[in-house]
Amino acid sequence: MAEVAGTEFWRGIKPIEKVFQPNALPEVYMENVATEDERYYVPFSETVSSRPLWISPSQNKWCDILMAKGAGLVNRHYHPHQVFAYTISGKWGYLEHDWIATAGDFVYETPGEGHTLIAYEHEDPMKVFFQVEGPLIWLDEEGEADGYFDVHMYIDMCKRHYESVGLGAAYIENLFR
Ligand code: FE
Repeated sequence: MAEVAGTEFWRGIKPIEKVFQPNALPEVYMENVATEDERYYVPFSETVSSRPLWISPSQNKWCDILMAKGAGLVNRHYHPHQVFAYTISGKWGYLEHDWIATAGDFVYETPGEGHTLIAYEHEDPMKVFFQVEGPLIWLDEEGEADGYFDVHMYIDMCKRHYESVGLGAAYIENLFR
């Protein structure tokens, strides 16, 4: 509709009629994803939890909000693939690097990096938007492979948690693309 509304000069433009190709899946819109509602955060380590936002079983990839309410740790691991991160709140980094990320900071981890994630004490919880391509390879103290974590384990972990808090395991399947 061509209402005149302030500075919104685009109001007369018609949306595309054919939005989705026949076999395309619908887009995802989720509001207020960095919510305080703790039911959405799936315990990942003893001190860090993850809210899944988007999961691709076929690409072994996921997007999530990683959250820690205080000092936190995700044990040492190796990434054969790349990781992107954008910091929403709190203070975090890796033992292996000297930068410390706070709200607004972006991080790109190149394929082939091992690291140990730490959340610092901060007045706000650590909340970081991550795009992760699995698997994570857990490392022992000598840096040798000691297990792995991939999208299938992530899905299983999320389903069990969402079932246990009453959101239902099926919620997770809505995030598959
Ligand atoms: Fe990592």
